[in-house]
Amino acid sequence: MHRRLVMLSLAVSACAAFPIAARADAPYAFDTAPGKLPKTVVPIDYDISLRPDLSTLTFTGDESVRIRVRTATSTIVVNTHDMTVSRALLDGHPVAAIATDNDKQVTTFSTGAPVSPGEHRLAIAFAGKIGDQPAGLFYQKYRSADGQHTMLATQMESTDARRVFPSWDEPSFRATYRLSVTVPKAFDAVSNMPATAEQVAGETKTVTFARTPKMASYLVVLCAGEFGYLKGEADGVAVRVVAPKGREQNGQYALESAEKLLSYYDDYFGVKFPLPKLDLIAVPGGFPGAMENWGGITFTSDVLLFDPSIQPESAKNEIFQTIAHEMSHQWFGDLVTMAWWDGLWLNEGFADWMQTKATDHFNPSWHLWDRVNGDVERAMQTDGQNTTHPVQTPIADETQADSAFDEITYQKGGAFVRMMEEYLGEDTFRDGIRQYMRANAYGNTTSANLYAALSNASKQDVAAFATAWTTAPGFPLVTVDERCVDGKTAVVVKAQRFFYEANQTSEQQWRIPLSIGDALHASDAHTVLLSAASGTFDGGPCGDPVLVNAGAAGYFRVQYDSLTAATLTHDLARLAPADQVRILADTRAAVQSGAVAPSAALDEIAQLRGSQSLAVWDAALNTLRGIAQDERGQPGERAFDAYERAVLRPVFDRIGWAGDASDATTPALRRALLEALGSAGDTRIVADARARFERFQADPSSLPPDLRETVLGIVASYADEPTWMKLHALLGTSKSLDEAQVYARALWHARAPELASKNLAMATNGEIPPEAGPIAAIIDVAIVAQEGHQPGLAWSFYKANEPKLVEHLSDFERSFLVAKFLPAFWQGASRADLEAFAKSHTSAESVPQVTQAMHQIDLRVATAQRVVPSVDRWVAAHPSGATAQGS
Ligand SMILES: [Zn+2]
Repeated sequence: MHRRLVMLSLAVSACAAFPIAARADAPYAFDTAPGKLPKTVVPIDYDISLRPDLSTLTFTGDESVRIRVRTATSTIVVNTHDMTVSRALLDGHPVAAIATDNDKQVTTFSTGAPVSPGEHRLAIAFAGKIGDQPAGLFYQKYRSADGQHTMLATQMESTDARRVFPSWDEPSFRATYRLSVTVPKAFDAVSNMPATAEQVAGETKTVTFARTPKMASYLVVLCAGEFGYLKGEADGVAVRVVAPKGREQNGQYALESAEKLLSYYDDYFGVKFPLPKLDLIAVPGGFPGAMENWGGITFTSDVLLFDPSIQPESAKNEIFQTIAHEMSHQWFGDLVTMAWWDGLWLNEGFADWMQTKATDHFNPSWHLWDRVNGDVERAMQTDGQNTTHPVQTPIADETQADSAFDEITYQKGGAFVRMMEEYLGEDTFRDGIRQYMRANAYGNTTSANLYAALSNASKQDVAAFATAWTTAPGFPLVTVDERCVDGKTAVVVKAQRFFYEANQTSEQQWRIPLSIGDALHASDAHTVLLSAASGTFDGGPCGDPVLVNAGAAGYFRVQYDSLTAATLTHDLARLAPADQVRILADTRAAVQSGAVAPSAALDEIAQLRGSQSLAVWDAALNTLRGIAQDERGQPGERAFDAYERAVLRPVFDRIGWAGDASDATTPALRRALLEALGSAGDTRIVADARARFERFQADPSSLPPDLRETVLGIVASYADEPTWMKLHALLGTSKSLDEAQVYARALWHARAPELASKNLAMATNGEIPPEAGPIAAIIDVAIVAQEGHQPGLAWSFYKANEPKLVEHLSDFERSFLVAKFLPAFWQGASRADLEAFAKSHTSAESVPQVTQAMHQIDLRVATAQRVVPSVDRWVAAHPSGATAQGS
């Protein structure tokens, strides 16, 4: 699954306090795999018929399951949720009793006499609900040129197949599935496999699909609606983009990308894509992200379809990466599946890494390996706090499975896979993955199975290397002391766990691959393994400083001795972008933890003023925007804004408003700088944006999609009421959801309190198109809090309207919502108020998330208190910086 993250720099978090002992996994075995269902009865083959009724938003269904009874038993337990089971026959005879426990999400069939071991057939009649949220079978309304439409889709991961059909809904119960569905005659239906029959009867039609290979229940998919298609082919596999009719032509980019990727993965994994077809299905709005259902991947439409009249060219980056992510799961996740949800990182860490690797392979001009640091840094922000959890987190109960979908599982998991590939070597690592695929195809695995294949390929003990990284929380801080001894640099390193919090210690150790190389020639670096708490390594002839994370593939932070750090800062402009980015991020973390003064970060940024690397400026802006936020409402706010303008304006002036198509990342850099300058109140930028908005109203084509949201956002930030009304009118006349979202997100930047109140009202007054999904209303509130500089107003609104705001969210979304959004309000409410409200409005399972969100807020407040006075002194001491530009 690819969970779309909201465009806010708020860290997500999961569970608290975990044991620290690193414990290796055992290889997969069905009988010892975690789970709740008894393993006495297993499904072999499901034959499922579903009859949805859109007028009542319910469905009825029948299934006939070939089962194997492994040891004699008189009870058969399956998962069901929000479902009525009306009848069950075992081998043609009614069972003695049917008992459904909706809290435990199971139905137990009592057979009376024990059932003998061997194969039997269980037939079940059932009925369930069609929801308005992506959990199980759900409906999605959308607009098109000829009016309102509805489509049906499913979202089963993690544990919602049981809402659609009675099932052994745990990943190790693999079985084959044969689906059929009865839908209105005007609908098409799409599932994991191609349709084998279609029968029209009156106003309905029944579509039957071919039998799937053996797979996990969470990968079943069924979509139905009025569809249009773009058809292609790759390596003998039929590839299609399936979209609401009329929008399929926007799938051309996705189709071409998927064709390239299928051939690439066929080669990389050494196993051909095992199904006869692959559909990429656009679900309009509402559905957050994408889901790797085998052979029928679902995507929220704007990460699949590309509309050049609305979306900036750079949207192709997210589309390509999302397709690359989901398609890699077709092998890593679908063909070979984690045994249980504690191994989710096997799926998601791998896919997170592979999406970058495959996307970079086809699009080197996007410089993704330099830019991936932003994602890694998000994981490190969470992972550097004492409340983090290991990549491999115990999941006692499948209802906790959703909590594993966080940045530790995805981005830390991905960063670890990258580090492992770098350490073992690209070819060796790929050979290990091929062995893993071959050995475990159509089966389940634990980390131990992966390490065994990689060990076999590399002749190294990969489990010994990997275990601390995946089963213990946090990551190391490597402190480096460089000395010239007899003409050679001795690199003395020490490693200990990094913490943002003061006075935290840990005895944890990792085996750390250090990439040691001359800072100015880092591509010549060599890798050594630090397997103790300290070590001394040869850094070559004395001269330039030596990096110990050269190339930035290591998931750890580095702090150099003060002399080396000063030299590195002085020479920073001459380093490779990936190293510059890593150094900026490590320094920012050191500022946040109190290890160094903010001047260290500002000094570094000053050295990089000549850079035109998007990755470098993303990292630098992360620091600058963070300080700007800390300064909100403080006496030094205006002076820091002026300083920020002075730093950024010359960088923007070099690339200007238009032109310079030489670098594919320039448009994104332009937007990032414009947003920062606009936010810092650069009068010329604001005036330019207003002039462009004027022209846009007369001639919409004058403002290209690349700049539209950015320019309108700047205009909205400083809007008066008449301007706000003009922007608001655009929203009302927009022709598609994608277009409406551009205007809405811009509009919500308005800072004037009366306009912020109007923006907040939109969250509940029905103005946000319902197909944007319930999360759009919460995003509205969060943007008003942060970009609109109105955290107090936004928090009051959130509190007053919470029931309505969360009403339509799925359990999955609610499970991370508080942790994700609470920190948005840290400057708008007292700590006590935030905590009391959050605790009284979340379920017992979400208490750890609330605790972690409060911890994050506390860290943020403490950092701001330390950083602000220091920054104020530094800005005052650098008046030239503060007077070069300004308003
Ligand atoms: Zn995924």
